[in-house]
Amino acid sequence: MNTFDNIAAPATGIGGAITILRLSGPDALAIGGRVWRSRTSLAEAPPRTMLLGKVGPDPALAVYMKAPASYTGDDVVELHCHGGAAAAEQALKLVLASGCRMAEPGEFTFRAFVNGKLDLVQAEAVGDVISAGSDMAFKLAEKQLAGALSSRLETLYEELNNLRAEAESHLDFPDEELAWEEGVPERIRAVANELKRLLATRGIGATLRDGVNLVIAGRPNAGKSSLLNRLLGMERAIVTSIPGTTRDTIEASTVLRGLPVRLTDTAGIRSSSDPIEQLGVERSRRSIEGAQVTFWLLDASGDELDLELAEMARHPAPGRIAVWNKLDLAPQRALPELDGPTVRISAKTGEGIEKLLDAFAREAVDTPRPELPEVAVNARHARLLEEAAGLLPDAAAHFECGEFELAGLMLRDALHTVGEIIGKTVEPDILDNIFSRFCIGK
Ligand code: GDP
Ligand code: ZN
Repeated sequence: MNTFDNIAAPATGIGGAITILRLSGPDALAIGGRVWRSRTSLAEAPPRTMLLGKVGPDPALAVYMKAPASYTGDDVVELHCHGGAAAAEQALKLVLASGCRMAEPGEFTFRAFVNGKLDLVQAEAVGDVISAGSDMAFKLAEKQLAGALSSRLETLYEELNNLRAEAESHLDFPDEELAWEEGVPERIRAVANELKRLLATRGIGATLRDGVNLVIAGRPNAGKSSLLNRLLGMERAIVTSIPGTTRDTIEASTVLRGLPVRLTDTAGIRSSSDPIEQLGVERSRRSIEGAQVTFWLLDASGDELDLELAEMARHPAPGRIAVWNKLDLAPQRALPELDGPTVRISAKTGEGIEKLLDAFAREAVDTPRPELPEVAVNARHARLLEEAAGLLPDAAAHFECGEFELAGLMLRDALHTVGEIIGKTVEPDILDNIFSRFCIGK
């Protein structure tokens, strides 16, 4: 059924206790049989049965998945090589010398797409599953891989195709007074609304895929490193009471309220004549500018409240939350009213951290307790959805005026555009762009 050649690559990293080599293509079974040996050949055993044999002197399990019931839709053989990196490298060499070439990044998934095992949205989800930075991001990717977004787009695609056919049917009988079916413009507008609903998931989609850039800023000694450590739930930064110990920025990845987060602890913001420290301050300033959310720490117990507030006012920050820290040292102190979200915490005791996380999630995704979305589009989907949605109001209006040719053209364009999202109509460079981002072996 296919005209593909034979490809192979490790589907796992090489170097673990087991390395899985994946072979895919019309001759995968024959090539596998040349490399892997046992009493029962792969061709004799029922497909999807694990057999024990050897590749060279090393033990290896092998399993055959017959086309089209495989990940790629081609014949696939997996060799599970036991014996460490050396054995796996040797097995890969043998496979490549026996008729397979090394797979390109994402090529297995590309074949799955071409063979109709996955549409383009699902193929992208394969990448999302691998790179998911939180459990919620992972679950979303899994849903998308299972077809949650694809099925909604398929429905829209079919509806647009019906509407296009409806518009074009009037062109075939130009002389007849063909009454158009009731409700067509309404149906066009309903499609536009559904496109917009999908478009509205772009924000949570970007947040779950790319993570939130969260910066902790404030003057030295305000408690930035202590808060970072609390958020990470482990000791990472050096915490001391000497101002300015954290000279450079520290970055870490974590998950807050289900959202993947890149956390940056900046060097203290303050005027300094020490050139190294100035560099650190400069870098802090830049990370603050690139942040989506900033925790600006203020020492609620300190003598320098005015100075701290003045410093904060000098550095406008996106998504800024003012955080009064060291509440345990000054539980009763009257603190000045501030603009914007303000939270009181103690990085030391953990008091107020839940409120801080609520405020964080509100800044990041407009809700204190984000939930797993049904579907969430990515930037590529959003661009195409916007394009398609933009065509539909005019298409509906033209239809209403009896300008069926124009309505038909616009519906055809919208259809094509929605088709591009799922990969029904697609330019080769788009495919390149999507699949080349995958790692080899996927
Ligand atoms: P940074 O310079 O902003 O990173 O501040 P650090 O996290 O290094 O903290 C400076 C000092 O303040 C350390 O001695 C911390 O133990 C102390 N500290 C930080 N947060 C709190 C807090 O909430 N309560 C109390 N009592 N001490 C804190
Ligand atoms: Zn610090």
